[in-house]
Amino acid sequence: MSSRQPFEMKAIDPEGMFDPKPLFSHVCTASGDMKVVFTAGQVGMDEHGNVAPTYEGQVEQAVKNIGRCLEAAGAKVTDIVKINYYIVNYDPVDRPHVPIILKFLNGHRCSTTLVPVQCLAKPELLFELDATAVIPADRAAGAPTLPPTDTMAVDVVVVGGGLSGLKAGYDCQSAGLSTVVLEARDRVGGKTWSKTGAKGKGKVELGGAWINDSNQSYMYALARQFGFDVIQQITTGDCVMHDLDGSMHKFEYGGVPKHDPAEAENMVQIRALLERLCHEIDLQNPQNPEWDSVTLEEFITQNGGGPTALGTARLWTRGLLGCEPREMSALYFLDYVKSGGGLMLTRSDMKHGGQFLRIRQGTQSFSEGLKSLLKPGTVALGSAVRKIEQTEEGKEVYVTTEDGRKFLCKRVIVSVPTPLYKEIGFSPALPDDKQKLAFSTKLGWVAKTIICYDEPWWRAGGYSGLVQSFNGPVTIMRDTSSDIDGHFSLTCFSQGDTGRAWSKLLPHERCAQVIDHIARAFDNSSAAVNHIGAFEQQWAGEQWSQGCPSPVMGPDLLGNLGHALRSPFENIHFVGTETAYEWKGYMEGAVRSGDRGAKEVIAVLLRK
Ligand SMILES: Cc1cc2nc3c(=O)[nH]c(=O)nc-3n(C[C@H](O)[C@H](O)[C@H](O)COP(=O)(O)OP(=O)(O)OC[C@H]3O[C@@H](n4cnc5c(N)ncnc54)[C@H](O)[C@@H]3O)c2cc1C
Repeated sequence: MSSRQPFEMKAIDPEGMFDPKPLFSHVCTASGDMKVVFTAGQVGMDEHGNVAPTYEGQVEQAVKNIGRCLEAAGAKVTDIVKINYYIVNYDPVDRPHVPIILKFLNGHRCSTTLVPVQCLAKPELLFELDATAVIPADRAAGAPTLPPTDTMAVDVVVVGGGLSGLKAGYDCQSAGLSTVVLEARDRVGGKTWSKTGAKGKGKVELGGAWINDSNQSYMYALARQFGFDVIQQITTGDCVMHDLDGSMHKFEYGGVPKHDPAEAENMVQIRALLERLCHEIDLQNPQNPEWDSVTLEEFITQNGGGPTALGTARLWTRGLLGCEPREMSALYFLDYVKSGGGLMLTRSDMKHGGQFLRIRQGTQSFSEGLKSLLKPGTVALGSAVRKIEQTEEGKEVYVTTEDGRKFLCKRVIVSVPTPLYKEIGFSPALPDDKQKLAFSTKLGWVAKTIICYDEPWWRAGGYSGLVQSFNGPVTIMRDTSSDIDGHFSLTCFSQGDTGRAWSKLLPHERCAQVIDHIARAFDNSSAAVNHIGAFEQQWAGEQWSQGCPSPVMGPDLLGNLGHALRSPFENIHFVGTETAYEWKGYMEGAVRSGDRGAKEVIAVLLRK
């Protein structure tokens, strides 16, 4: 008989004590087989020994350091049972550390102790914290799918089990190459993540949601292969524009919102200009120094764009990339929309558009489906890759995971987002151009809040569910119901500057603001507040995504470094949605890039 005790962790708020939500719980217990992790006190000092100049900066850095320590020990934030805070000059009235810690804990509550102190180890340090965490023994033991061997030899190691990595892994294995896919998270799917909806009905998509059945041929082929049902996006009913002056007005889907007439005309002219120019770009080699040297914001202003045109451009860049028009070059934006068939198509919810169809089973099922086609044991979850070393003879590559497991292979396919290359030690170092891409491209800020209801009450009011707001907190909202499942929801995106500002609120305040926005948009507060469940996901805080959907390039990067995105480095190949020529940033681009990466490897390893 096994003497193993099942692992269980509990937060307890005993009767008769004050309510500690949302910051902590009065007691935490952990029982069963476990590994215990203690961190040293972490302060606001970065890897170079620089101390952040502000109190908030120090708290942010200290929290980041704690996250790193936990990760190194294989623990997650949700494994923390106790935190101690040490604060210099503590002021019980002014507590700017609270929102930062709440964001870090992301709803997890553990027991805490706050200790005001006179000073810390150095005079400039103002904040320190340490944590104790417990990990279930079976997780601490590592990924169960791999045999316990010192070094496992395979033909191909794929780093990352999102759509691009799984497609690459599947193609390599199908071609007869022995393959392992190493995935840092405890799930496959990366930036797709589907959860069961409120009351167990339907699916909610925390990440990628929409595909189409025409120019997204790879995704649609997979949907058919796996027998998934598709749900057509609703475009009937009134759409709502939340304008610059704060007013809300209705407009027909596909029509121009009822802005001030001169402003509307100016916006339409700028839109037509960008649509025309994007089609001049060669996706294989996007070059135009004039467009690349200015930001999209500068480009629009230089071409006579007024406040509404700029506001609309903000909606596009926030909606497509989670960034502001000032954060990307005009060339980057034009190339990005061209890769999705043009500005109008990428934004469209209709046939051939970026938001035409959803998947009833949830888009994470694509990755789960691909995983199920691989031989058992191919995908190792909880396997963050930290080192990729190419041997001097240049024939082999060693890949090492965070917990020290080693893989020897002939080729590696790296599928992690470009800015995350920094998290892996490459030896020899990546070429300069690739390093510049890793350090200078930036993932956007995107959150989804999905509010579920018993009925699609907004439809009864004549609304389609589509809302566009220049003001926030929600930038774009859509009806994401699955009627056949009795699942009714509004998915509310908060993106770019608007999203960042909203994220500083406490969790219950964020949810209340979103519901208030729904109420105002559809002029029905009693129905809006009567929700049956809410889901929130902020992608910038995800350690293995660090934002989404696709890394953005500021001026003078795409023309100079774009070619380096997908170029192999000796035995290492690079895939991921941003490396695609078509539908970059989308699931379609991810799968197409995986297809390309596998072809590169198969061509080398199986050539006669
Ligand atoms: C909120 C949101 C909305 C979106 N909406 C849509 C949409 O409607 N339609 C659409 O087509 N697309 C959409 N997307 C984009 C789409 O989800 C992505 O383009 C696609 O999933 C990217 O796949 P990928 O394989 O390139 O990258 P990822 O999904 O990021 O996969 C990379 C994988 O690598 C893993 N990893 C990272 N570092 C390491 C490491 N060191 N070791 C091991 N593993 C590591 C990660 O955990 C991840 O699983 C959306 C994305 C988000 C987040």
